[in-house]
Amino acid sequence: AGMFDTLSQSLDKAWDIVRKDGKLTADNIKGPMREIRRALLEADVSLPTVRQFVKGVEEKCLGMRVVKGVSPDQQLVKVVHDQLVELMGGQQAELVTPDDGPQIILMAGLQGVGKTTACGKLALALQKQNKKVLLVATDVYRPAAIEQLKLLGERVNVPVFELGQQAKPADIAKQGLAKANKEKFDAVIIDTAGRLQIDDTMMGELREVKAAVKPTDTLLVVDAMTGQEAAGLVKSFHEAADLSGAILTKMDGDSRGGAALSVFAVSGRPIKYVGTGETMDALEPFYPDRISQRVLG
Ligand code: GDP
Repeated sequence: AGMFDTLSQSLDKAWDIVRKDGKLTADNIKGPMREIRRALLEADVSLPTVRQFVKGVEEKCLGMRVVKGVSPDQQLVKVVHDQLVELMGGQQAELVTPDDGPQIILMAGLQGVGKTTACGKLALALQKQNKKVLLVATDVYRPAAIEQLKLLGERVNVPVFELGQQAKPADIAKQGLAKANKEKFDAVIIDTAGRLQIDDTMMGELREVKAAVKPTDTLLVVDAMTGQEAAGLVKSFHEAADLSGAILTKMDGDSRGGAALSVFAVSGRPIKYVGTGETMDALEPFYPDRISQRVLG
């Protein structure tokens, strides 16, 4: 089953329940709301997010007038759609572009989520906007990490600034930014070290790098497969590093998609891009509207 298929199927049941009645009432939306709740939990949307969502749908339903020619199930689909879009932040969100100086994008996230890959993809995307892009490698813990970023840099034809494994991440970032300023780069993308789990060292280092370069965007890279833990993960990173948004990777996989719905609900920060494959061009802007339509089938 593809992403959102199960969710979409369970929601169909919710529409069936109200199809027979002429309008949405406090009584006849109870059944559908139970189905919606169950469907979202099964799709790995976190519980607080589900609660927030259901409450929003209920309020909207009960405030609705009967519209001639529109059946209650169609009305409910519309409400759920609108609420889903709202839950994901409404509009498609762009990266921040400063009035002067380079755009500085700090990439955070756990190990293995696709952070380094996302750096390469973003570099290519910005380059396509005719920007002069610099990648900066601050993951000094894994020798392979710097090499991997250099390989991706070569693939998209973007230079990679690094100082080997002995330098401190914040210093590397600072010197990378100095180079970018001096050589008039338009965008700097900073790859950081991830860990398998959240720990204080990783968060402390992220804060240090952030303080050193004052990024225009701090993006959390989240694997779409993350499931229920996405909420806690986003919350921790947001508290530690004041995120400006997220990139959701591996949307091409067969996850249940819950993370897509939890990110904004938890942090108030939008998903700005999604990763849809392993190649450098597999990056797309995140459109809440389209995701909602996919969820509703
Ligand atoms: P990092 O440890 O977070 O830097 O993760 P990497 O960038 O090294 O990626 C880990 C693995 O996930 C690699 O095999 C990538 O090719 C793969 N990957 C990254 N993004 C995507 C994506 O959007 N879709 C798929 N299918 N694989 C991805």
